[in-house]
Amino acid sequence: MTTFQAPKGTYDLLPPDSATYLAVREAIAAPLRNSGYGYIETPGFEDVELFARGVGESTDIVTKEMYAFETKGGDRLALRPEGTASVLRAALEANLHKAGNLPVKLWYSGSYYRYERPQKGRYRHFSQVGAEAIGAEDPALDAELIILADQAYRSLGLRNFRILLNSLGDKECRPVYRAALQDFLRGLDLDEDTLRRAEINPLRVLDDKREAVQRQLADAPLLRDHLCDACKAYHEEVRELITAAGVAFEDDPKLVRGLDYYTRTTFEFVHGGLGSQSAVGGGGRYDGLSEMIGGPALPSVGWALGVDRTVLALQAERVTLDIPAATSVYAVPLGEEARRVLFGVVTELRRAGVAADFSFGGKGLKGAMKNANRSGARFALVAGERDLAEGTAQLKDMESGEQVPVALDAVVSTLRARLA
Ligand code: AMP
Repeated sequence: MTTFQAPKGTYDLLPPDSATYLAVREAIAAPLRNSGYGYIETPGFEDVELFARGVGESTDIVTKEMYAFETKGGDRLALRPEGTASVLRAALEANLHKAGNLPVKLWYSGSYYRYERPQKGRYRHFSQVGAEAIGAEDPALDAELIILADQAYRSLGLRNFRILLNSLGDKECRPVYRAALQDFLRGLDLDEDTLRRAEINPLRVLDDKREAVQRQLADAPLLRDHLCDACKAYHEEVRELITAAGVAFEDDPKLVRGLDYYTRTTFEFVHGGLGSQSAVGGGGRYDGLSEMIGGPALPSVGWALGVDRTVLALQAERVTLDIPAATSVYAVPLGEEARRVLFGVVTELRRAGVAADFSFGGKGLKGAMKNANRSGARFALVAGERDLAEGTAQLKDMESGEQVPVALDAVVSTLRARLA
């Protein structure tokens, strides 16, 4: 028989490590829930055109990395490579922006798919938690999102991350800059692919990681020096608000990010312990995206934080999250009668909110105690015929080894008190 493996560029989340992933998602979501963001879930696939138009025809994500396919019914779909276009599509479709309460603040958590060359920190299936604030142009909103991401990372115990901040200008000033940059790039010694990119999307050349390219870019014109007054004032206000919140950041005039829809504020969270895939999260303002996908003008801002890379960042900083043991009490019955009685006690414990597990499969005392140990439970509850005859079970403290008989009808209250 053939055995199967997870597809290339993917991996499975298995216990006990999977608990860390859940905790990371929870930690990122908590500040959002606490700040007026409502939960949204959208399908794992969308019309391929949504991403082509939203993320950008010339981006790597769309040209090289999208899982696009045609269905039996002839629909052209793609597995979602990112969250923003879908969330905005859903908000527009449901007219959330017309309900009167702008910005519409949404958060999401889910799987994303990109056909990338796999390496550490770069997978074909990965997971993000993201936030979008739709329909308001207000520097405080950009600042809020950056501050909340910072709060999320700090609540996890991460310290070795930096926030890079830039402004990409708007439809007034960016075209002027784009032309200036293009002029500059045309004079450089670049390969054909890069020259072609310079024609289609010159800003992305700034993001080229190759040293030979970076060296030539040392004197490239910077958007910072071309921002119009409105963009300059907006950016200054974002910087001041973040600074006032005590969140440290670095200006990075070459930060462009790989998605075409960004305008004005863009930012990235990078971590020092991840090697080349150093971006743990990123986002920015996308004032034009709604119109690009057929909606009204809805200036918006958002971010997505990568769960996989956040877990790698925790490992790099040797932070272990305080994850409570999955099981507090492990019941070990000896014999048929005890099995029935203790199974009932376990059900009662669970209904009372005590995390309890049971030795299934009729194991002997030794094997069952080994499993009790492995489960991480603080207490084992052991009962044989003699205990039952006395209406008791033995409660063993797995840390101290101390064991005391407890009346069966007092097991729940005793354990609740001892675990409190
Ligand atoms: P992006 O949508 O490219 O700005 O990505 C936002 C975040 O998602 C990144 O900072 C990463 O943490 C994560 N991410 C993006 N692509 C991948 C990938 N292929 N594998 C793992 N994480 C990813």
